[in-house]
Amino acid sequence: MKKWDEVVGEFPKEVQDDIDSIRINHGKLEAESVAKVLERLDAEIGSLMIKLLPAAAAYAIVPISGYQVGAVSQGMPIPGTGWSSLYLGANVEFKNEALSFCVHGEQSATSNAWLHGETGLQSLAISAAPCGYCRQFLYELGTEKQFNVLLATGTGDGYTSNPLDYYLPDAFGPHDLGVNGGLMDPKDCTHDLSLNKSSSDTLVLDALSAASKCYAPYTKNYAGCAIQLSDGNIYTGRYAENAAYNPSMSPLESAITVMNMNQPTGDTRTVSRAVLVEVPTDASQFDATTSVLSVFAPGIGLEYYTAKNDG
Ligand SMILES: [Zn+2]
Repeated sequence: MKKWDEVVGEFPKEVQDDIDSIRINHGKLEAESVAKVLERLDAEIGSLMIKLLPAAAAYAIVPISGYQVGAVSQGMPIPGTGWSSLYLGANVEFKNEALSFCVHGEQSATSNAWLHGETGLQSLAISAAPCGYCRQFLYELGTEKQFNVLLATGTGDGYTSNPLDYYLPDAFGPHDLGVNGGLMDPKDCTHDLSLNKSSSDTLVLDALSAASKCYAPYTKNYAGCAIQLSDGNIYTGRYAENAAYNPSMSPLESAITVMNMNQPTGDTRTVSRAVLVEVPTDASQFDATTSVLSVFAPGIGLEYYTAKNDG
């Protein structure tokens, strides 16, 4: 698989700096840069997203399968210009852990956009047809009705574009369980939470803030995670639930995925602390978080705080 510099080198010279900026810009190509690149390449956004797939795949961490998957998501139009930002995502596997904890590229590109403040997605590009798990995960999006999957044809930057229900007919989703918004929709991702035991620790408050913006309409098990690396950088992750339950994404998986997309590819990451804040209900993230942390950062104990819902 190609390395980052090789991938950037395949773009025309006049846009290489913009593409390279993604690496220091948290796996994001800003809307203004997208517009500039499209103008310089005389291209449309779908073909640019396909062109970016190898760059996204360069972030994959695949110690089990060796199968790198890149995905690129398109955020919502910015009022005034209509431009939109692009977000890279890649699959992440955890060695010595159950396969059910693996994060798929589509989940990563969605989570990256969400953690950057997007409130929905317009489309997502992928190099191979999305697996059933990801079709169900994406069906949870509040913007699912206006959402297209761009699938690379393997010839240049060619692709097909189809609405999600092409890939998931007769779907079961949030509407079947009385949820009218969906994943990333602020009305389902805004909660008034407070810690049961107060703290002024920044990392704990970051995890609380992530829990306050998570998506858990079915169990109300609002949960967020914050991890700190030895270089001081902090990354937070939000729980993302699913109507079908199983494609849910745990808050630690979300944090690790976003950290992965926010660091230069191939960088070493040493976790120094990890905090989970949750509102325990009939569901809890504690065991799953402890398990994933034990393989991702052996020896780092999970700091656990419970919160209550004041909303
Ligand atoms: Zn998948």
